[in-house]
Amino acid sequence: MPSLTKVDFMMTNTSHIINMFGEDNAEYFNAIAPPIIQTSNFRFKNIDQLRKAIKNEKESFVYSRGNNPTLIILSKKLAALEGAEDTLLFASGMAAISNAILSNINNGEHIICVNKPYSWTSHLLKNLLPRFGVEHTFIDGTDLENFNKARQKNTRIIYLESPNSWTFEMQDLSAVAQFAKKHKITTIIDNSYSSPINQQPIKHGIDIVVHSATKYIGGHSDTVAGVLCSNKAMIEKVFNNEYMTFGGIIAPFNAWLLLRGLRTLPLRMERHAKTAQTMVTFLEKHPKVIKVFYPYSESFPQFNLAKKQMKQGGGLLSILLNTKDVKKIETFCNALKHFQLAVSWGGYESLVFPVCTFVDDERFSELPINLVRLYAGLEDEQLLINDLTQALKKI
Ligand SMILES: *Cc1c(COP(=O)(O)O)cnc(C)c1O
Repeated sequence: MPSLTKVDFMMTNTSHIINMFGEDNAEYFNAIAPPIIQTSNFRFKNIDQLRKAIKNEKESFVYSRGNNPTLIILSKKLAALEGAEDTLLFASGMAAISNAILSNINNGEHIICVNKPYSWTSHLLKNLLPRFGVEHTFIDGTDLENFNKARQKNTRIIYLESPNSWTFEMQDLSAVAQFAKKHKITTIIDNSYSSPINQQPIKHGIDIVVHSATKYIGGHSDTVAGVLCSNKAMIEKVFNNEYMTFGGIIAPFNAWLLLRGLRTLPLRMERHAKTAQTMVTFLEKHPKVIKVFYPYSESFPQFNLAKKQMKQGGGLLSILLNTKDVKKIETFCNALKHFQLAVSWGGYESLVFPVCTFVDDERFSELPINLVRLYAGLEDEQLLINDLTQALKKI
């Protein structure tokens, strides 16, 4: 392989991207931290300038439903981290997902989606899109043949989540991308589990990457946000249609919180992987746990695929308790002192979220009742192991 020039090395170096890339400190008093440009609109010297800017709103600063300087700094960094040409930033992960799907589907067309996607993605496919004549098929994406079986003449989107956020089934990204390209189908992946640090699907040929930036990219449980990454043509198409119309843009302050989160993202991902691994090793040996689900565990059926396309595991893992008695599962969850009972993940705090929360909810009926999701935060790992030990003793 030819060696990288100094400039190439800088441009592809994660530390450089996170720190200086996309920033122009001289524009804002040489401040080390990027500025929050909290403005709704921008003024112009004359009509000619205004006219030119409005003609190309994506590349100008006209109005903050479309573009804002704080967002541009973040957008450049995220694009570089994902290996994408450009990104759009949203007020939530679901806004990014809805925009990505709606921009690439029409009445009478069909979507192939992997089983058990994020609950509101599933809701979008099952409840909203049918109103506009859009059909879908859910498939087990661990086997490439299932994509072929589900493909129809009118299939326009393949929607992936690899791994998903409860049982971590994965798809072979290069193989699916190749299949989709052959049939001119747009591929979208929810990459929230991995963050751009652990997995870069665009490098495997996937067309669009979406993130709930609420999770690792924000990283502090204080911001809801989303990202859509793709090539320039796709970003322009989404910007000029769904993005400007639905108005789901992130606020400058929240974009700034993500910029701050990014500064520690690689460090945090390393720590989550290490702590999760320690928890997995402990739980795999524990007599009250039947099974541990973690994509980067040797016991995971797709461990080889994980090693092929992901740098390391994330902070999420799930366990099957050796009881289906909901009372006992509740006792375990309620007994945890440091794992807090909460949805979401990606922040400092370790969390627990059991399937038995949804005893009557059809959205989670595919998951076993004794499945409990744990999130390894950034705390001292011994504290977490001790907490699991004492809570498992209670059942
Ligand atoms: C949280 C989450 C989402 C939705 O993101 P929001 O920022 O909450 O809108 C989508 N996909 C996955 C895998 C998630 O965990």
